[in-house]
Amino acid sequence: MQTPALTELDSRYLIHPVSNFRDHQKKGVKILESGDGVWLTAADGERYLDAFAGLWCVNVGYGQQRVVDAAVKQMQTLPYATGYFGFGSEPAIKLAEKLVSMTPDSLQHVYFSLGGTDAIDAAIRYITHYYNAIGKPTKKHIISLKRGYHGSSGVGAGITGLPAFHTNFDVPTPSQHHISCPYLYRSEFDTPEALIAASVKELEDKVAEIGADNVAAFFCEPVVGSGGVVVPPKGWLKAIEQTCKRLGILLLLDEVITGFGRTGKMFACEHEDIQPDLMTMAKGLTSGYAPMGAVMMSDEIFNGIADGPNKAAVVGHGQTYSAHPVSAAVALEVISIYEEGLLAHAQNVEPYFKAKLEACLSHPLVGDVRNLGLLGAVELVADKATKRQFNPALKLSETIADIAWKHKLIFRAFGDNILGFAPALSFTEADFDTLFERLQLTLDEVLALDMVKQEM
Ligand code: PMP
Repeated sequence: MQTPALTELDSRYLIHPVSNFRDHQKKGVKILESGDGVWLTAADGERYLDAFAGLWCVNVGYGQQRVVDAAVKQMQTLPYATGYFGFGSEPAIKLAEKLVSMTPDSLQHVYFSLGGTDAIDAAIRYITHYYNAIGKPTKKHIISLKRGYHGSSGVGAGITGLPAFHTNFDVPTPSQHHISCPYLYRSEFDTPEALIAASVKELEDKVAEIGADNVAAFFCEPVVGSGGVVVPPKGWLKAIEQTCKRLGILLLLDEVITGFGRTGKMFACEHEDIQPDLMTMAKGLTSGYAPMGAVMMSDEIFNGIADGPNKAAVVGHGQTYSAHPVSAAVALEVISIYEEGLLAHAQNVEPYFKAKLEACLSHPLVGDVRNLGLLGAVELVADKATKRQFNPALKLSETIADIAWKHKLIFRAFGDNILGFAPALSFTEADFDTLFERLQLTLDEVLALDMVKQEM
């Protein structure tokens, strides 16, 4: 139950991720109490349709007893095993083998982290170590996309291409660079082909500017998530992969959101048969039932590190909870659920989701819709013809989320009034009907707001 005391304690003591500290204290916390399938029950006693799978992670939905049982069994048997000093555990080893079998052939080795941020951080450290080990110590610069999100670690936040993660945090560092996001709706290009060509040229120019001998890698998400669910045109990722190969730089695909069925394939790289040098994952790996992420790498990188001039020494990267056996047991069970039919179900309902998204285009507020699998967005604009955005000072997205909450619907309203959807893969057509009915009510109410009418 949500008591005033609990709200007060939250406001006094708990720092919420990516929040405005003072705004949060003013508004107060919305406490979630339980979950069942695609529904969340809040402390107000009401049930809310979760169209964002927590934070695009609870792909199997809430209340999966077999996942709980797997965790309990592992906790009872062996709640913790270190990976240090040559120790290990069965679930972690089986999970590593499973991930290698599920991902592109280029990826042969796995380091387990606790989530996405530290998977990226581990990747940066391994890449640095690799280039030093193979005698190319100048290859240190990393290029990524504006609007990209690659976690919020001390250094990794600079690879993220979102201003909130940079301001006052003293990143990007001088070795971190960004190129334009392949965002057709808001680009100057009329065709996907022109956008892809421009994107490749921008990467080439950036590498030339820094010097190919100084560039280590290009990092990107197959679908830009936290930057507003930007789905690049088909063929973009292939063109980027080929460019990286030609220029002699590593390609890291950040599949933290897009992995584990979210885009209609087990991994989004399968849509274009990409063979990355590194891949990061988290979220759907355990479906949020336990914290875990991973970075996978090629033989080339692994062997470069293993057999370098420093080969007699340990590779000094680790965490107490790397390859945690409970998280690994949870991940193995969750992956079985995807493989036993949930991924196939998500593929079956995707056309229904897409059609419902496209129907939103008839609403006066909706400028664009897009999706890949069950990862989608509805972009609101003040003027459809010019694609003009609402004045950011209105903080309209927060009002939209509040109105949706009133209609018992949860999605993510990004700052630029892009509404992000990442429903559990178990969503049925009936669940989508409920989602879009409630979204319609929400959009109609937003349209009637004075501050919105004045801008349109
Ligand atoms: N990479 C991507 C693409 C992400 O979406 C996220 C999280 N939203 C991260 C990295 C960071 O993951 P985490 O929040 O688990 O640290």
